[in-house]
Amino acid sequence: MESYLDKKIENLKGVGPARATLLQREIGIFTYGDLLSYYPFRYVDRTRFVPIREINDTNVYLVVRGYITRLELLGTGRTQRMVATFSDSTGSMELVWFKGLKWIQDYLKKDVEYIVMGKPTFFNGKYSMSHPDMEVLRPNDDAIKQTFMPIYSSTEKLRVQGFSTKGISKLMRTLLMEVQGRVPETLPQSVLQSNGLISKAEAVKAIHFPDSNEMLQKAVYRLKFEELFFLQLDYQYAKKDRKERTSGFLFDTVGDCFNRFYKDYLPFSLTNAQKRVVKEIRADMKTGMQMNRLLQGDVGSGKTLVALLCMLIAKDNGFQSCMMAPTEILATQHYLGITKMLGDLPITTALLTGSTKVAEKRKIKQQLQNNEIDILIGTHALIEDDVKFFNLGFVVIDEQHRFGVEQRAKMWTKNQIPPHVLVMTATPIPRTLAMTFYGDLDCSIIDELPPGRKPIKTIHQYDSDRLKVFAFMERQIALGRQVYVVYPLINESEKLDLKDLMDGYESISRRFPLPKYQISIVHGQMKPADKDFEMERFKQGKTHIMVSTTVIEVGVDVPNATVMVIENSERFGLAQLHQLRGRVGRGGEQSYCILMTTDKLSFDGKERISTMVRTNDGFEISEADLRLRGPGDLQGLQQSGVVHLKIADIVKDESLIRLTRDIVTFILQQDPKMMMQDNYPLQQYLQKKNMTLNWSKIS
Ligand code: ADP
Ligand code: MG
Repeated sequence: MESYLDKKIENLKGVGPARATLLQREIGIFTYGDLLSYYPFRYVDRTRFVPIREINDTNVYLVVRGYITRLELLGTGRTQRMVATFSDSTGSMELVWFKGLKWIQDYLKKDVEYIVMGKPTFFNGKYSMSHPDMEVLRPNDDAIKQTFMPIYSSTEKLRVQGFSTKGISKLMRTLLMEVQGRVPETLPQSVLQSNGLISKAEAVKAIHFPDSNEMLQKAVYRLKFEELFFLQLDYQYAKKDRKERTSGFLFDTVGDCFNRFYKDYLPFSLTNAQKRVVKEIRADMKTGMQMNRLLQGDVGSGKTLVALLCMLIAKDNGFQSCMMAPTEILATQHYLGITKMLGDLPITTALLTGSTKVAEKRKIKQQLQNNEIDILIGTHALIEDDVKFFNLGFVVIDEQHRFGVEQRAKMWTKNQIPPHVLVMTATPIPRTLAMTFYGDLDCSIIDELPPGRKPIKTIHQYDSDRLKVFAFMERQIALGRQVYVVYPLINESEKLDLKDLMDGYESISRRFPLPKYQISIVHGQMKPADKDFEMERFKQGKTHIMVSTTVIEVGVDVPNATVMVIENSERFGLAQLHQLRGRVGRGGEQSYCILMTTDKLSFDGKERISTMVRTNDGFEISEADLRLRGPGDLQGLQQSGVVHLKIADIVKDESLIRLTRDIVTFILQQDPKMMMQDNYPLQQYLQKKNMTLNWSKIS
């Protein structure tokens, strides 16, 4: 059913085809409904006029009332402008126009009282406003009684065509008159009632033209609620739908491989969290539906082992598995670690990366197709087109934030029936974010570290205290431990970064001379083979200090290393700092993370460092990260086609995100097909959505 709100915007009085095109292009408004949900970003209290003498801030939008006392045309040609002196009983300011001068000159009058709205700037000892919104003050006017005046964001092109904030506001009034009595309710009545929400019709009116602060708050709440509600409905419905429609491989047995490994090869007992997660995954893989699961667990929580156990189950059911890691170092380490753990069990593994020799590659590809490899480990090289499996049943993607959604999707197309997918991430995603953006994945969490780990002590040190830090490193090395010293790598100036690293390496070499001390160095410009060689020396305890760039950021596992020194740590993001810190504290010894910074720290830099010093909890850190950077910036979310929220705020509206999630879950359980009369608006919504989806597939 077509709704009145779907009417094209050009039909609205005061728009017309040309301006309609402009509205589409500039702010994405195609229909009545689009315009209706173009919410003000601010409101101005027009009952409070600011006396000109009291203006002291150039950052706020102000309303001033007064008279034009002088009007002059200044300059010539391109610098020509109209300047008005605008005064009230306390002082005067300037109003400036660069465009539409003729019109201004004819229109503005000297003995008329005006309301002027805009952002002042301070110039030549005076406040001025350029291209302010103005209107004649009419004491009995309706507009003046209204407490809050909406301010809309506009663009230069729109402004020229009469759609300044005032123009938009006028259009909005026309629209609201036009759609009166035709704004359908989008939420079920029961949801409105039990959550104390005002109707959609009331809300859209009040969000644009509230008559009281109370009404405005009610409108904001209702519209945020609605936005988050439908986001949840989209995700949860899609997930349900996918589960019902996409069949997956049935892994219904746990056989010899798993059992023998579990009984005889497992070097330690699983933590309860690991056990629980393996159970969750197993339950998923025997439903006959495809699994799509996100495994979150802090650094060092033992995700690799969980992945390995699942790959053994795949093998027990006659399927191949693969595991993809973001770097060669990490892939190699997984390969070595896993083959070692598997010992003499009859399970064949192989490693495929960018630097695998051509002949070796060819052989691996052949063996894969002959079903002679059970577990393939590697980097992006795994998803190249000519890598074909005999029967790939299970895919593990480690450190998910390094891979885009596209790459994930690409793995699927290798089979008719998609393999089960387990995505592992060590950068915990804030809970609200996971709920909002990964709502279509199932999620397992390892919330427990293996026993015997001592929490890492984190210390902030200024560069000027470097000698103290060296002395500390020396003591730890004397105890038989190893040390990482990491330098930031910021892509823009790789040469400079490398120089930092080399300088650092030199001064460390002087302080820790041969032959007593052995130092490894690893950076991005080295050949993979050389990197591996150095990593291996460090792993085997042959070198005491590992000086490196962030190539060691993810996954590297050397339990004997107890000190992580991070140079210029203010240049790292929180997620990265947490990853780096996770390289130590992997054995039973007390470990330390030393954050070196310059003396001059920005506000954000200070916040990051103090967050790191305060907590080891990855979730807390990711939440601080979200607060500091905002959601738009979070790694990986950019490519993942993140939803754009119009009114809700992912940080501030956390409780509302939870609330709407639970309500949607409940509704979907109670009425999965949306057949109840009360859920009619939801059925409508889904039908409409389906139609547009199908259309976009066709075109
Ligand atoms: P991450 O979750 O960061 O990928 P890893 O899988 O690399 O963590 O595991 C970190 C370290 O903990 C490894 O040395 C691993 O062998 C060890 N480990 C994993 N599970 C356990 C356990 N249940 N008990 C003791 N150590 C464990
Ligand atoms: Mg890992």
